[in-house]
Amino acid sequence: MNKTILAEIISVGTELLLGEIIDTNAAFLAEKLRDKGIFVYRKSTVGDNILRLTTAIKEAMQRADLIIIGGGLGPTEDDMTREAIASVVNEKPFIDDQLFENLRQMFVARGREMTENNHKQAWLIESAIALPNPVGTAAGWFVTFDEKMIVALPGPPHELKKMWHEQVESRLPISDQFIYHRTIHTAGIGESDLAARIGQFTNMESPGIGTYARNSGVDVRIAAVAPSIEQAKAIADSVIMEIEAILAPWIFGYDDETLVSAIMKQLTAAGQTFSCVESVTGGNLAAEITDCPGISSCFKGSLTAYTNDVKIRAGVAEELIREHGVVSEQVVLAMAETARKMFNADWGLATTGVAGPDGLEGKKPGTAWIAVVGPNLEWSQLVDWPGSRQMVKNRICRIVFQSFFKLLKEAKCR
Ligand code: AMP
Ligand code: MG
Repeated sequence: MNKTILAEIISVGTELLLGEIIDTNAAFLAEKLRDKGIFVYRKSTVGDNILRLTTAIKEAMQRADLIIIGGGLGPTEDDMTREAIASVVNEKPFIDDQLFENLRQMFVARGREMTENNHKQAWLIESAIALPNPVGTAAGWFVTFDEKMIVALPGPPHELKKMWHEQVESRLPISDQFIYHRTIHTAGIGESDLAARIGQFTNMESPGIGTYARNSGVDVRIAAVAPSIEQAKAIADSVIMEIEAILAPWIFGYDDETLVSAIMKQLTAAGQTFSCVESVTGGNLAAEITDCPGISSCFKGSLTAYTNDVKIRAGVAEELIREHGVVSEQVVLAMAETARKMFNADWGLATTGVAGPDGLEGKKPGTAWIAVVGPNLEWSQLVDWPGSRQMVKNRICRIVFQSFFKLLKEAKCR
């Protein structure tokens, strides 16, 4: 089969509807389907209810060629994906001898008792082939019915992902369309300002262009569809170049790149290092920095200097704190300089502020001073943006990384 393929994803489980579990499977599947040139127009979530699940599958089959169902393949009574598919295709499940034997051996190997309710994990229907699950007891189903395909995979994400790669991908129909996409990450420009600057492109039919406000800044996503990946790329690239020229002052990376990886790129190119002394962010800067693979090439370390006592012992002059208060420009600059000295780094970053919910020394919650000190450069900024403790800390980290990236970029241009 070679054609434009429409898919729908159905996530199954009452725990998803109650908000207890975040649906990471649907995000994974959507990304993988896109990479195959398969179009996902709709995703839905259904609780553990046979009637609603059956209806959801029937409806999806009226719209899509391929239906991927995640979850509901457990052994218990509430897991009813098999029952629902059997009902939709009007077939009676039977126990497959091979599946039953595999299951029995798995229980023997694990030294566990196989109970009666596990038997349905050996079920199959005429229209289905079983998809082996090497890491769990729930086999998947690959159903071909009425020129449609239904794929059922177990809910645990590591099982679903492994089976997707090993069992599903090679069985998918081949699309005659390719989707090329690229995401440009920007920081330091608001979404409406950015959208206005690239307004002449956002209404185009192809490539499709969308803007998304994210934690790190605003993303611009460019996607083109064509009969070959080269053609799709060519369509996207012509517009990407124009958008890059307009947004150059704010672009920090592409696709999987992050603010921290962009900082790392600049620093390693310059052969420089950085370090932090954190107060209000309590180690969040370091946590996010060390999420970036390879960061030890330029990040030397961070000290969480939360109390005045620790700040002083680290090297901040006591008089500065007494005279100006701990949340002050003078103190944050001294902290950033301390970071450079203590870790023998080229650049020092520092934060001091009030996370809330109460104020401190007459300062409102959400007030913070941040600083970046480097070779021939001292930079500081007051942040004044209330919110929950977590929001305040996250936002301060964001502004520190955005500012540091911008300062490095400017330092390079000078
Ligand atoms: P099930 O196949 O329904 O027995 O799924 C078992 C477990 O997989 C659930 O209890 C969840 O912990 C996890 N799970 C199910 N669906 C999802 C999903 N869409 N995203 C992430 N985890 C899931
Ligand atoms: Mg379930």
